[in-house]
Amino acid sequence: MGSAISFASSYSGESMAASDLDQSFMGEALRQAEKAFKAEEVPIGAVVVRAGKIIAKAYNQVELLKDATAHAEMLAITQAEAAVGDWRLNDCDLYVTKEPCPMCAGALVHVRIQRVIFGCPDPRGGGAGGILNLLQMPSLNHRCEITGGVRGEECAKLLQSFFRARRIGNGEEI
Ligand SMILES: [Zn+2]
Repeated sequence: MGSAISFASSYSGESMAASDLDQSFMGEALRQAEKAFKAEEVPIGAVVVRAGKIIAKAYNQVELLKDATAHAEMLAITQAEAAVGDWRLNDCDLYVTKEPCPMCAGALVHVRIQRVIFGCPDPRGGGAGGILNLLQMPSLNHRCEITGGVRGEECAKLLQSFFRARRIGNGEEI
């Protein structure tokens, strides 16, 4: 269990359909990402699900909080810990619109999240198989299952339009 990354979309060239449930929870993560977009934050959203229910939802707030660690996943983890009343989240799954960075991937292992489901991959900076796979390090005492590529195109498009709008705002040519 959890020794390989499964991709739900055509990202890996496979055509496995993501489960309806995964699609639906990713939809809420996408709504969170849209809130970030409106707040002029890099549009990434995350939700934590336990026993089929969303117990935490958050979006990137790095600019608002002036805190480089205020990624959607970190904020969602803190909320989920408060909801569960424990730092251990081993019966919880985290959905995030973009592959977690190494900081967030490290935190997800610390809280022992069961499964990480992400939207678009980040081949240049991702910590869930992009540049490295911290979620499944053989030497660590916890490994997460990974499902990548769930509604990945929608997640990527939101990021692309955010950075395009920002370049136009800066007067740069596209
Ligand atoms: Zn992060």
